[in-house]
Amino acid sequence: MSKVPSITDVDVAGKTVLVRADLNVPMDNGHVTDTVRIDRFAPTVTFLADKGARVVIISHFGRPNGIRTPAMSLEPIAAALTTSLGRDVKFVEECVGEVAEKAVWAMRDGDIVMLENLRFHAAETENSDTFAQRLGVFSDIYVNDAFSCTHRAHSSTYAITKLLPSYAGLSLKAELDALDAVLGAPKRPIAALVGGAKVSTKITVLEALIPSMDAIIVGGGMANTFLLAKGFPIGNSLAEPDYVHTANQVMAIAEQNDCEIVLPVDLVVSEEFAAGAANETIPVGQDPGERMILDVGAASITDLTDRMSKLKTLLWNGPLGAFEIDPFGDGTFAVANAAADLTKQGKLITVAGGGDTVAALNQAGVSDDFTYISTAGGAFLEWLEGKELPGVAALTDQD
Ligand code: AMP
Repeated sequence: MSKVPSITDVDVAGKTVLVRADLNVPMDNGHVTDTVRIDRFAPTVTFLADKGARVVIISHFGRPNGIRTPAMSLEPIAAALTTSLGRDVKFVEECVGEVAEKAVWAMRDGDIVMLENLRFHAAETENSDTFAQRLGVFSDIYVNDAFSCTHRAHSSTYAITKLLPSYAGLSLKAELDALDAVLGAPKRPIAALVGGAKVSTKITVLEALIPSMDAIIVGGGMANTFLLAKGFPIGNSLAEPDYVHTANQVMAIAEQNDCEIVLPVDLVVSEEFAAGAANETIPVGQDPGERMILDVGAASITDLTDRMSKLKTLLWNGPLGAFEIDPFGDGTFAVANAAADLTKQGKLITVAGGGDTVAALNQAGVSDDFTYISTAGGAFLEWLEGKELPGVAALTDQD
């Protein structure tokens, strides 16, 4: 269990609680198109309001770079949170200064307000103490419930914790506990499935995972560079020849650490990166000619499913193929379904994260069946890399 202090440890009745959320949700034409982040945040708000706190919600949205940008207002998000909570969330057009202060002073116990986009002020991303003071002036307690923002030291995730007693919200605590369960004292054997486009963007993740994993399953475009390193032909596939040396090093370090590197045994190849393109499954070692590797084949799916049935824990980041383009998502979806089935049977703990991974698992229809899916992109990867997350450290290291 994570050692971060939680809102369940403190009496919030009658207190003004400043809650940092990540409400940077997908929007189209002023309408929220995906409410996952809002729905995951809602229980923290309900918990605090039910305990009699005055709940003041802050968040960023988009990258307005310090400029008030109406298209990046949080107003539609306050409306979506009202719907999700089934109770009123009052929207306030500023996050600091007189307008914000007046609105907060007028609150009663159990009231909820949402302040305007933090990033309308450039000072927010500069981790300014002065901006944190302006934000904290009306609050008794600070709560961070935005795991996906904890890899950034900003005024609302870091400087503020030096001014107010600070706690993790329910969703941040749940996320940290789920991640701790995987890398803290995991049930073994444990494997990481690391897929995606390029070795270069995941090299630090691979290196950091090797000492704690029994196996690393490499998939997607990344696997092509590993196949190249092993001397197998990859045709016109996406690969990074400059990283062949790195791939060889990863395999050598893995061997020293008793961590098996698992590569595909067969490949789906096609001339075109297009939906419905003609394709063929070939074994690794057979020359794809002018074609590209776009997915793993049926034998790889069987191999991975077999391996998963012997695991206790699986960590997943990155797709096994170009899953957005039909039929090259088949490998990712089949393996995701097998992992979900084992999880439902109580045989496997499955923790996944990262933007594309969440999209792929959603598309596979297994999002509700994994043990935990992190919607955080950068923070999830930095956590995988073993980096300290400043927003989490700030909560743990309070005097
Ligand atoms: P990443 O953001 O690194 O996790 O990469 C995800 C992207 O990698 C997705 O958009 C996939 O379509 C892409 N991808 C996975 N496998 C392949 C492949 N074999 N060839 C080209 N793109 C791929």
